[in-house]
Amino acid sequence: MKSYPLYLNGEWLRTKAVHPVMNPATGRAFASVSTVDRARVRQAVAEAHAAFLSWRQLTGKARGEFLQKIAAQMERRRDEIARLITLENGKPLAQSHAEVAMSIDHLRWFAEEARRAYGRIVPNQVEGKRHLVIKSPMGVAGAISPWNFPMVLGVRKAAPALAAGCTVMLKPARQTPLSSIAFAECVHAAQLPAGVFQLVCGAASEIGQELLENPLCRKISFTGSTETGQLLIRGAALGVKPLSLELGGQAPVLVFQDAEIDKAVAGAMIAKFRNTGQSCIAANRIYVQRPIYKKFLALFVAKTKALKVGDGLEAGVEIGPLIDKAALAKASEHVEDAVQKGARLLCGGQPLTRRKGFFFEPTVLADVPDTGLCMREETFAPIAPVTVFDTEEEAIRRANASNYGLSAYAFTNDLRRAFRLMERLEAGMIGINDGVPTTSQCPFGGVKQSGWGRELGIEGMEAFLETKHVSLGVG
Ligand code: ADP
Repeated sequence: MKSYPLYLNGEWLRTKAVHPVMNPATGRAFASVSTVDRARVRQAVAEAHAAFLSWRQLTGKARGEFLQKIAAQMERRRDEIARLITLENGKPLAQSHAEVAMSIDHLRWFAEEARRAYGRIVPNQVEGKRHLVIKSPMGVAGAISPWNFPMVLGVRKAAPALAAGCTVMLKPARQTPLSSIAFAECVHAAQLPAGVFQLVCGAASEIGQELLENPLCRKISFTGSTETGQLLIRGAALGVKPLSLELGGQAPVLVFQDAEIDKAVAGAMIAKFRNTGQSCIAANRIYVQRPIYKKFLALFVAKTKALKVGDGLEAGVEIGPLIDKAALAKASEHVEDAVQKGARLLCGGQPLTRRKGFFFEPTVLADVPDTGLCMREETFAPIAPVTVFDTEEEAIRRANASNYGLSAYAFTNDLRRAFRLMERLEAGMIGINDGVPTTSQCPFGGVKQSGWGRELGIEGMEAFLETKHVSLGVG
């Protein structure tokens, strides 16, 4: 079993304490990773702070060149890294390739953005003064990432932080540390100065607590569950620590009778089943207008039944395993609850017992009442609950009836309707006739309990910059 080290202060650190990494397609551990205690995390923050003092002095162009080198390393190793993502996360290999490609794109985009930490000069109101607004990097940034997109979600935090002039403490999820180790290898090969990028694994609450309480850590960017986000908000109160939080989603998909039905089905399929339903922007609940309800269901069920389930490394697989046993249990609970409340099970609905890992059959439920768990909570499984609506007003009201507001999707060919939807849907990201809205250059994040702040786009780097006003007496 291969054992992986951590990356601290420019060196590889092997510890006695390790934790195992499991392949969710087999349910077996295949690697282990070193772990550190809170005292070593504190030291790592101090090292990152020492590195910050010189990293911040580099020009944005110079920092961008380092990011370009990391991107080139990742590009060179993309096949091997994609395999690693599939091994620890379970997703189909083609989707791991897409994740690596998006990570490279994020690195390149923020490499360019590093040159653009613009301030502004504001006209003075009083004679003899001049006003400047300047941007400064915050300092050491903590980046806590989840297991569902183990590479791209770490990169989405580290790249803008490094571009801004911050140094980074990356803590990946316990289930998927290997992608971040590969990321650290790319950083090492790109010869970033020691301490600029620190990789720590260990007890999440201890590492989190150190990042929250250590005054040298000046920002935490987190992606994960709303529950952990709430813990971080409480913990951040004492030190008034700035947080960016990308939390749970519960995305609605609205399919209107004027939509091109084939495109709507294809869009809903990808929004639902990409990453085996384990994406924070996954379609959680699908509402279809009555005149096309039956036709949509027939097409959607046919495509769902045709999905190939299996180990993500096998050719042509479109649905991999869920991350663990608990995820399987939750999936079963959501299906049973919906059926008990009157939903019709049109396909799937069970864990796949003929395979070892944590596989769940791609599932479609029809006529699911709004009270169903799968209509109210994040399901994170290949389960598509579909229901019917009559009017646009009703569709918007039901779509917005959620504590979450990360993403929303709508399929329509009516431009006026599209504008009404984009203005009224309560979500940070809206895909109109598009099931895959994420792109490096546009803000990613949610409203309501889906979080605070935005990643990607110019907002993504802004999250690691302080805005300062300088009033200059020049009279
Ligand atoms: P998920 O449901 O995606 O596993 P979590 O919120 O549990 O969501 O995990 C997301 C990330 O947050 C992981 O890296 C996890 O280790 C980390 N995490 C979990 N608990 C804490 C905590 N108390 N403080 C800081 N980070 C935590």
